[in-house]
Amino acid sequence: MTVWNPWHGCHKISPGCLNCYVYRRDESIGKDASFVAKTGDFNLPLKKNRAGGYKLKAEGGTVYTCMTSDFFLEEADAWRGECWDMIRRREDLHFFIITKRIERFERCMPADWGSGWEHVTLCSTCENQDRADFRLPILLSLPLKHRQIISEPMLEEINIEKYLRGGQIEHVTCGGESGPGARACDFGWVKELRRQCVRCGVSFTFKQTGANFIKDGRTYRIERRLQTAQAAKSGYSYAPGTGSAEKIKYRLPERGELFERLAKSEFRSRFHLTAKDRTYAEEKGLDLIRSHAEDFIERRLAAENPENDGRQTPMRGHPVFTAQHAVACCCRGCLEKWHGIPSGKVLNQAEQAYIADVIMEWIARELKR
Ligand code: SF4
Ligand SMILES: [Zn+2]
Repeated sequence: MTVWNPWHGCHKISPGCLNCYVYRRDESIGKDASFVAKTGDFNLPLKKNRAGGYKLKAEGGTVYTCMTSDFFLEEADAWRGECWDMIRRREDLHFFIITKRIERFERCMPADWGSGWEHVTLCSTCENQDRADFRLPILLSLPLKHRQIISEPMLEEINIEKYLRGGQIEHVTCGGESGPGARACDFGWVKELRRQCVRCGVSFTFKQTGANFIKDGRTYRIERRLQTAQAAKSGYSYAPGTGSAEKIKYRLPERGELFERLAKSEFRSRFHLTAKDRTYAEEKGLDLIRSHAEDFIERRLAAENPENDGRQTPMRGHPVFTAQHAVACCCRGCLEKWHGIPSGKVLNQAEQAYIADVIMEWIARELKR
């Protein structure tokens, strides 16, 4: 990974900054991280090697810019112009800038920025809903060729779907916090954010678990060296259209236990067949009803990213629709939350048959009531 730190030192301005690693590292060597100074690498993009070529080669790919500070920090206002000049000259590289100060971008951009530079990506952080709702509208409104979002350290469940819908965001990343005193990250938040990305067709990286990782209500302490590997192993990163979700290991629930859980849900247990549904089911017979169920599953649920996901199953009008809500097989979000079947994958024959089985079992139980 190529990193360019033109200056070092920063100020905490956001809940995500609490355990900032720059501060942590500087404190450990008796340095004051709030002192901002240019580094010896200030002009790294223009530095040459002995053969006269650039030290930073285009093949190195992305240059992560300003990783021990913030590119839009006030103290750096006098220096930033020179950085833009270097960035302009190195069109062969790609500069990736992560910031917690997106609101300062407009007054900090170079005069010839125009509608954005092709070789610069701006990535706004959003560690919680409050910061997401403040920063993301700004990120969307700015003249940029490449926009990304990162939620790290992720501090709570966030909903950013409305910012993803327009197709302007190229990628979303999230991860937990590391170090001593790290705040916990809940796998449920990660999955929720991923589902939003899947629905909007945006690629997603679950980068690392952080030091304290909550899964199904239990907190796990994850060693530093395993945090990235564990996240990768979960398979919960997502790349649209590539079958990335096939990597996710999951187990379908045991049927008896599933129906017990559904019975405990106030929302799910409210659904019942109407008199009309019953007559319909009895007249048509369960074989035909099952074939309808199979057809609905294939057309409305099976795609990697079904149209209108979350709203594709009418509340009534067919016994199968009612059953789908009752057994949480109404949309891909419910299939993931209740049955473990990951969103973002094409449902295979076995998964489709399982869903039809659950729906039919519920209908059969209802008819006996
Ligand atoms: S903006 Fe980034 S570098 Fe600056 S204090 Fe916050 S976390 Fe640290
Ligand atoms: Zn649903």
